[in-house]
Amino acid sequence: MIIILKQQANETKVKALIEEIQQQGMQTHYSQGSDVTIIGLVGDTSRVDEDKLRANDVVADVRRISEPYKAANRRFHPNDTHITVGGHTIGEGFFHVMAGPCSVESEEQLCTVAQSVKRSGATFLRGGAFKPRTSPYSFQGLEADGLMLLREARRLTGLPIVTEIMSEAQLDEFADVDILQVGARNMQNFRLLKALGHTDKPVLLKRGMSATIEEWLMSAEYIMAGGNEKVILCERGVRTFETMIRNNLDISAVPLLKKQSHLPVIIDPSHAAGIAWMVEPLSRAAIAAGADGLMIEVHNNPKAALCDGAQSLNLDQFAEVMKEVQRRAAFEGKIMD
Ligand code: PEP
Ligand code: MN
Repeated sequence: MIIILKQQANETKVKALIEEIQQQGMQTHYSQGSDVTIIGLVGDTSRVDEDKLRANDVVADVRRISEPYKAANRRFHPNDTHITVGGHTIGEGFFHVMAGPCSVESEEQLCTVAQSVKRSGATFLRGGAFKPRTSPYSFQGLEADGLMLLREARRLTGLPIVTEIMSEAQLDEFADVDILQVGARNMQNFRLLKALGHTDKPVLLKRGMSATIEEWLMSAEYIMAGGNEKVILCERGVRTFETMIRNNLDISAVPLLKKQSHLPVIIDPSHAAGIAWMVEPLSRAAIAAGADGLMIEVHNNPKAALCDGAQSLNLDQFAEVMKEVQRRAAFEGKIMD
């Protein structure tokens, strides 16, 4: 980080600033040029408050040259993170498909879908019990009954469950959920992120629909700063000017995240496209780009789905997509178990 000082800055105030920075555990390098005078900060600058520095009357500008996230940064954690959950390993070298309905609707629906996706090769069951819908008049999920059905489907199939948590007040209710999903709309629910940081639960953190990659990694940082390093990033498409698809899948996020971070990266082609037939080509792209898995919406009768029917695959379509996914993931040398 570099602090650019104002011309003719008061020397006593500059000295006080340097001392303050050093007291925070950083080294400082003062360099006076003919036009500009700068202070270079060396050390862990992730906790430095840039706004506070800018407010200092000797400071003209502050520039970051390293990323503001530390725990999620590959620079400080060169090895890939692997997360073990329900006997499966998630992370580089492995490939998992989390499949299931957008929302849990009934015992018959969930158990039919769960058994079928398991037969097709999915290793996790997804399903929303609490649904963050754009309209308060839309189906909000079966809530606690939905969680009960997810437990029932897990007992029946052995598939670990992934479901969305919307508030820190739900942590006890979600205690036996295998992976806690933080949805796009909650990516910056910082109280929730902080609370998740104090658990040891794997968290699938979806990208906010208009979030930059840095903002997304800072949300991961919130969880990790609390001590929970089990974070899985899930790209689910971002909002652009395009209207023919629901969101734009940011495929470049995969190699970028893999370079910047050590966390596992999953692609959700269902919410990205919003169109069922596009799930297969986008899944292929995800594998080619280096993703560690997919999250795919599957329904036994998409036409009658209470949520996201247009993007849901039926059971046979999912089975077909899985054949292609297995073939391509094997080609990339991924282990799928
Ligand atoms: C979901 O997974 O059903 C969901 C609501 O996803 P997102 O938060 O990505 O919109
Ligand atoms: Mn959905």
